[in-house]
This record gives sequence, structure tokens and C-alpha cells, in this order.
Amino acid sequence: MANLLHDALFAPLADGARDLLLLADGGRITEGAFYAMIARAANALAAQGVEPGDRVAAQVAKSPEALALYAAAVSAGAVFLPLNTAYAADEIDYFLGNATPKVFLCDPGSERALAPVSARHGARLLTLGGAGEGSFAAAMAGQAARFTPAPRGAGDLAAILYTSGTTGRSKGAMLSHGNLLSNAEVLTSLWRFTAEDVLLHALPVFHTHGLFVATNIALLARAQMIFLPGFDLDQVLRLLPQATTMMGVPTFYTRLLSDPRFTRDLAGHMRLFVSGSAPLPEETHRAFESRTGHRILERYGMTETNMSTSNPYDGERRAGTVGFPLPGVELRIMAEGREVAPGETGVIGVRGPNVFAGYWQMPEKTREELGEDGWFVTGDLARRDAEGYVRIVGRAKDLVITGGLNVYPKEVELLLDEAPGVLESAVIGLPHPDFGEAVFAVLARAPGASPDPAAILAALAGRIARFKQPKAAVVVNELPRNAMGKVQKNILRETYRDWFA
Ligand code: ATP
Ligand code: MG
Repeated sequence: MANLLHDALFAPLADGARDLLLLADGGRITEGAFYAMIARAANALAAQGVEPGDRVAAQVAKSPEALALYAAAVSAGAVFLPLNTAYAADEIDYFLGNATPKVFLCDPGSERALAPVSARHGARLLTLGGAGEGSFAAAMAGQAARFTPAPRGAGDLAAILYTSGTTGRSKGAMLSHGNLLSNAEVLTSLWRFTAEDVLLHALPVFHTHGLFVATNIALLARAQMIFLPGFDLDQVLRLLPQATTMMGVPTFYTRLLSDPRFTRDLAGHMRLFVSGSAPLPEETHRAFESRTGHRILERYGMTETNMSTSNPYDGERRAGTVGFPLPGVELRIMAEGREVAPGETGVIGVRGPNVFAGYWQMPEKTREELGEDGWFVTGDLARRDAEGYVRIVGRAKDLVITGGLNVYPKEVELLLDEAPGVLESAVIGLPHPDFGEAVFAVLARAPGASPDPAAILAALAGRIARFKQPKAAVVVNELPRNAMGKVQKNILRETYRDWFA
């Protein structure tokens, strides 16, 4: 029996003489050299006693070796478990306790802090640094450049990917070989990736966007990747002329637009810009088009489902929307147990080969969100416009219920964002003795501005119903965001919890 992901994504690289990874310092790694790296990593994992079905956890800096580790783990039949590099020891403790990996790889600099955590959960600790150093790198060096992949079919697990923890504690989404490959195939063809493409890859590789969407598509298409340790504006501006495509989170695009060196001349040759992981503001979409002539292609997905919708490649890419369900993916928008009509808001449900197998060791949570019939309840609120484009309007968990009435934060945020001196805003619900929850606004100031919260709130009168108007507002320098550019409303709710108490 074959190994599905190995055979489709990695095996074709063996012996390839072409450059696969183009590094920031001008270094190059050929397909064949990358495949040898995968083989050495797979052999090194086997030497540590890793067997099919074992978990391999890694909290390591982005590097070619880190990418090879992912490929090695799934090819060896193990379940890969990448962890956000920002997580501290207490957080790692939760993940290792939950997933009980056989091996845990961390940065050499964190070894001392993480050794007791790793030991407590019975994981073998090895290190891998951003420059390809550490005990795992040393173990790889002594291994053969060929290996025999473990048999794995479509239904076997390839990864446990933890959700970003935006709405609560992260959950481990169990993703199969079939989930990952089917999504890579659909997106490669929809977005027309070929071996002619050079993908600028500045995303982290511990999240579905950079690890699966970007990497798997590039590998399947045999495209090249400009593989950067992170998003560095100068580096991206310097290397963009060599790229044909780029995938990013919205903050990549706002940062590019903030720099006058990002011009039509610099971006004109590009074939495609893709955005996702957080809402791309309509204003950014339009500003990008007027600066470069390109319409960013926005798509929507999540850890549990891989990608579910995309704006069209050829048709109109509509600002503020995430387009249509992908081929083979069913999407429905539900409220009160039935599908809503176009224009009405409900919760997105998704079904298809992209949808995960459940939450690792959380059967109750799995039952709540993943029905026997295969429909997964995403928790994202959306409506369809007349042409069927899906417009995400927020998360069900962020919905504010004040005095029994529903307030969709996004509706209020869009108005606040236009207020003088406001760069962006976040509207949340806070505990309130009379209303249950009260609407509260956090306003991020535009550079150098000092917006007046009282005047801004007063100006909402007459524009939206009184119950939707925030009862109070504060001004901050910036909204808290995670590595994927998601606004962390849970942190805001915690910070201002006692405001109305
Ligand atoms: P948790 O589930 O732990 O609270 P999370 O949902 O933020 O965290 P991810 O799986 O990384 O973790 O993110 C998926 C979510 O990101 C989606 O449910 C959706 O809310 C948001 N998202 C992704 N793409 C888009 C997009 N294009 N527009 C708006 N929201 C998006
Ligand atoms: Mg989620």
C-alpha cells in the first residue's frame, strides 16, 4: 500500500535537479536535496522509535528543515503536530498533555525551559533551530538519503493541528491524508498553480495557511517557493520581483500598502495574490487594486475544514466576500434549524472531503460541532448576496446579546472605522447588570490621532438603532492580534471585563 501524501507531494521531488526553495540569503535547495532532507528526517524519527500512528510535536522556527520534518513525519506514518512558536511553557504543557507525542522538537534556546514539560508527558526531547542546528539536525546528518514510507491511506491521520485559540482553548483538529490532499488538488487547479509558479512564502508553518494551503499546493504543482522565515517588509519588497504568486494574511497586504516602494511597477508582473485567515477589509481590497491593478483573491477556511470557499480566479473577485464553495465542498447557512434565504444571516455549515475527522480526545466537542451526517458547524456567521457570494459577518461567539437583542459587532465596527482618527475598531459584549451584556467599543487610533470616544459614540445616534450603539468606548494604540493577524477579542473581553460591573 502506498502513502498518499508522500506519493503525491514528496516522492516526485526525489532526484529533481531543479531549485525548490529559494532562501532569503540567496541560498537554494533543489528538489532532490529537499527530498534527501525528508528521508534523513524520517530515518532520524524512526531511530527515535517513532512508529505509524505516533504523534510528533514540534515548536520550531520556520526553516527548510522544519518543512522537511512535516513531510518526514507524515511519510513515516506519524501524526504531525506543529505548535505556534509564540506559545510559552505552560501552553506547551497543555498540548503535550493532550496529544502525548512520542517525540517533541523545540528550539535549542528553549530546551532548558521545556525539558521538564516534555519529560512530564513522556516525550523524547530533541532540538532544531532556525539555522538548521540542534540535536535533531545532528541526528539527521548521520542518516541515509533514502527511506521506505509507511503505508497510509486517505482515512489515516496526517496531522493534529491545533486551532488558533481565538475564541477559547485551542482544540486539536484531526486531519487525514485524504483531507489534505483533496484540498490541495482542488486549490491547485482552481488557482491555476503550475511548475511555472514561484510562490512567495512568508507565512508561518505551524498554521494551516502556511503549512497546508501554501506548501501543499506548491509541492503538488511542482512550483518553487521563496521560503522566508517570516514577513519582513524590506525582504518581501526585494524578492517580490522574482515571485509570480503570494499568499498572505490581511496584515501582509496592509503593510505592503503602507510602503510607498510597493508600486504597480513592483507588483504588476504578479499572477495572483491570495488572502485569508482573517477578514480582508474592503478598503484594503480597493486600495490594493488602485495601487497595483490586482484584485486580491480572498478565500475562507479554518483549521478543521482546510479551505471551504474561494473567490473565482476568472470571474469577479468581490471585495468583502469570500466567494463560493470550492468544487466538491457543500456549504449551507443555517438559522433556527433551517437554511436561510439569500441576504439573511446564519451560521455556516460545511461538508466534504476537506472536513476533519473530529477533535483529538474531545468526543463531546466533536459531537456538538460535527454531525453524524458529516456537516460541520463552523461557528462563523455569514450571508449570501444575490449572486451567491458568501460574506462573513463575524463569529457566533462574538455576537453580542444585549437586553435580549442581537448585535453583530461587524455592523457597528464598519461605522466606527469611518470615524475621525480611528484606524480600526473592535466591538465586544461585556457583562452588564441590567442588559446581561452591553455593547463596548475599542477604538485603535490612526497614527498620531487622538479620537474623541464621546463624540464618536454620539455621532452614531440616528445611524444605527440605539441598542446597537456602544454604551462606552476606549481608545488604544492598536488592537491585540495573533500571528495570523486575527483580532483577539477574548483578550479585550478579559481586559475590560469589569467595566460595567
Ligand atoms: P479557535 O477555533 O481556537 O477559536 P480560530 O477559529 O481563530 O481559533 P483558525 O482555525 O486558525 O482558528 O481560524 C479559522 C477562523 O478564521 C474561521 O472560523 C474564521 O472565523 C476566520 N477566517 C478565516 N478566513 C477568513 C476570511 N477570509 N474572512 C473572515 N474570517 C476568516
Ligand atoms: Mg475556530
